[in-house]
Amino acid sequence: MTRRARILAQGDEIVTGATLDTNSAWLAERLWMRGVRVLEISAVPDDLELLAQQVAEAGRDCELIVSGGGLGPTTDDCTAEAVAKALGVPLVESPEGLEQIRARFQRIGRPMGPSNRKQALLPEGSTLLENPVGTAPGFAVPIGQARAFFFPGVPRELKAMAEQHLLGWLDRTGAVPMLRRRFHVSGVGESALQDRLQSLVLPEGVRIGYKTWLPYNSILLYGDRSVADAEQHFERASAEVRIRLGEDVFGEDDTTLPKALGVALRERGLTLALAESCTAGGACALVTEIAGSSAWFRGGVVSYADAIKTEVLGVPEQVLAEHGAVSEPCARAMAEGVRRITQADIGVSITGIAGPDGGSAEKPVGTVCFGMALPTQTLSRTTLFGLPGRDRVRALAAAAALEWTRRRLLHLGEP
Ligand code: ATP
Ligand code: MG
Repeated sequence: MTRRARILAQGDEIVTGATLDTNSAWLAERLWMRGVRVLEISAVPDDLELLAQQVAEAGRDCELIVSGGGLGPTTDDCTAEAVAKALGVPLVESPEGLEQIRARFQRIGRPMGPSNRKQALLPEGSTLLENPVGTAPGFAVPIGQARAFFFPGVPRELKAMAEQHLLGWLDRTGAVPMLRRRFHVSGVGESALQDRLQSLVLPEGVRIGYKTWLPYNSILLYGDRSVADAEQHFERASAEVRIRLGEDVFGEDDTTLPKALGVALRERGLTLALAESCTAGGACALVTEIAGSSAWFRGGVVSYADAIKTEVLGVPEQVLAEHGAVSEPCARAMAEGVRRITQADIGVSITGIAGPDGGSAEKPVGTVCFGMALPTQTLSRTTLFGLPGRDRVRALAAAAALEWTRRRLLHLGEP
């Protein structure tokens, strides 16, 4: 049977927009992966009446309720009280809970205040859930036909407790995990992907989804494990996606673009260096996300001012005077310069107009030139990143430089 769930996030900070509700997203993904259908994610302010009402109603049509937040010692934390109100039961002090709170304060060498005693007050009939990483214990209690879990809001605590008390329990009691595969691309828009996959006939139980996470796009395949031959269906669909997208896919699942680029460089025994103008180190930051990138990444130069382009990278003044800093001749000279001074096998450069000012009719905001100095030749290209936004242009340009390099490497073959 497919289990259904509701997720409740609590706190004024969530409903006022001060804190982004990452807890619910984290929970939703993990529930979903276990075949639990999440019917709703809602956020409730620190309001006893509202919360009690939400809790009382949440059990009407699901088997699982998961709540985060409001278990702290302060007066705005009123979850236990609201649950007691919703169930029409009193709050009772849990001796075991009090002991856990006491022990925790002892371990961290701090005195336990009277307000912490409040955290051991649980609705009658509930089961205490130990908090392995913080003070506030959680609790589980039946609400209607559902089993409800109440966790603290601090993400680290919520995750540890959900792992220990909820996800493990789901796994033990017949969760049917979904099949999922993610295919990542960079520089191919969602609609272009859609067009290429449109005629794909998906086998029974397999669904497709799209996700944009700037500067990347992903295709998500989901497989329902409860249908017959689910895995074969799922693998067949995956193979079809791979054929249609080919080398546009830089990686699957947890593979990032910098990781894929690093693998391509390592396999060929080549090193890379970067010269960046408008991205000012953004591409360097991306490649050095990868532990061990020093094996293939030599370094980079942020040549923001024209003087740095000429003095450090050796871009001829004449190139700047004739073509400007945002030009393919300049990008080529930057790439060659950084390749020379770092002694890398490949030098790649980025120079563009991130905006909001500085654009012209000839070179509008979003124009970015790239250069690539290879052992035997130097290449260049220009891309106009259409949608405005300084951050966007910079993020897209940094990723585009890496993606261009990755694709170029695929055709270089083994040295
Ligand atoms: P505490 O004992 O720390 O008071 P609590 O159960 O009362 O725990 P909250 O006060 O609701 O939890 O939240 C504590 C902190 O956890 C918040 O200040 C916020 O930074 C973070 N937090 C709360 N809810 C969420 C959420 N839904 N997503 C991400 N972070 C959250
Ligand atoms: Mg709190």
